Amino acid sequence: MRKISIFGATGSIGQSTIDLIKRAPQLYQVVALTGGGNIAQLAADAIALRAQLAVTAYEDQLPALQAALDGSGVEAAAGQAALIEAATRPADWIMSAIVGVAGLAPGLKALEQGTTLALANKESLVCAGELLLKTAKQYGARLLPVDSEHSAVFQGLVGEEISAVERIVITASGGAFRDWPLEDLKKATLAQASSHPNWDMGQRITIDSASMFNKALEVIETREYFGVEPDQIEVLVHPESLVHALVGFHDGALMAHLGAPDMRHAIGYALHWPERRDLPVARLDLASVGQLNFRQPDLARYPALAQARDVMRRRGLMGAVFNAAKERALDHFIAGSIRFTDMAEITARVLEQIETQSSLIDSAMTLDSVTQIDHIARKAADVAAAQSIG
Ligand code: NAD
Ligand code: MG
Repeated sequence: MRKISIFGATGSIGQSTIDLIKRAPQLYQVVALTGGGNIAQLAADAIALRAQLAVTAYEDQLPALQAALDGSGVEAAAGQAALIEAATRPADWIMSAIVGVAGLAPGLKALEQGTTLALANKESLVCAGELLLKTAKQYGARLLPVDSEHSAVFQGLVGEEISAVERIVITASGGAFRDWPLEDLKKATLAQASSHPNWDMGQRITIDSASMFNKALEVIETREYFGVEPDQIEVLVHPESLVHALVGFHDGALMAHLGAPDMRHAIGYALHWPERRDLPVARLDLASVGQLNFRQPDLARYPALAQARDVMRRRGLMGAVFNAAKERALDHFIAGSIRFTDMAEITARVLEQIETQSSLIDSAMTLDSVTQIDHIARKAADVAAAQSIG
């Protein structure tokens, strides 16, 4: 039996992972499940999967979790230290599906145990790609991509040398506002930004798809994970979301990865890697799809894409600055205190300010320096958000 843990088990990726595990429970021994405030879901899954341990990230939720697990034999724990401790429990495979930079410390700890880490949590690669890859190498651990585009590229590279790659194209649906008149974007509401044309995902990544902050993070993720140069990475708007990525080789060949927009494909590929097993995903009927469309992204509509290029040019801790500013700008948009279009203005301002004014930006990348610059960027984003009100 393979020992597995799922960080962010109550979220969209976590639930899709659990769906796959529940289809073949005899193959897995579940070590730890972690979640946030959805205690009922966390406890129900921990009991159903006979997990050793369930952890909520929030200390004040411990009594509720203990009550929900009473008599089940599942251990309950809460808080940041408990999350880190859960990552040290021996496992063969860990799903990293916490949203945001909060996934970084448990992910690093898991890699330090030599565990295979299936990485949905793209923010940790954006903030600390160099550190994650170095840690994986040092401890003989493996990082497997779970983001659909990166899983697609990873699959396109099977049997190939990265030196044979000329370019990597990742696709974007264009999000909720791809066909809106530009001048209407500033009036976009939270409800409008929270609905995705093709994918069913967590709220934060759905809004990030409308703004293409998600694609901006993914461009940086591509650079970090595959080690290619920024100008080898292209983004194409592909409204059907059926081609997830393409790998272009020096001989002109372009290998595309197609599939239904269902994250259980990328999760299942990482779960069974290096094998392929049957997965409960819809099979594409291309004749009934008929047409696939592609177009260049409009940088005026998606300023985050150009910001990602600046971040990659500067590297080091700039990824952590960009992600932190984006996370806070998104918090403010969700809270209703800023407009949709203010988010990219805030990240632009924070990037510029920290690059020119903070000496910390040149520090070596450690969990500590990433955490410090993350705090500084969050504060700067809060100031910028307060200035954009009205
Ligand atoms: P979600 O919001 O649905 O779930 C997030 C999970 O993280 C929940 O279990 C939540 O309880 C937990 N969490 C939130 N804040 C936390 C904190 N501070 N500390 C500890 N745990 C915390 O998110 P999601 O859509 O499942 O996305 C998870 C990750 O996967 C993100 O990094 C996202 O970018 C990435 N991803 C998601 C999809 C998708 O289809 N949903 C696709 C590709 C990549
Ligand atoms: Mg993706």
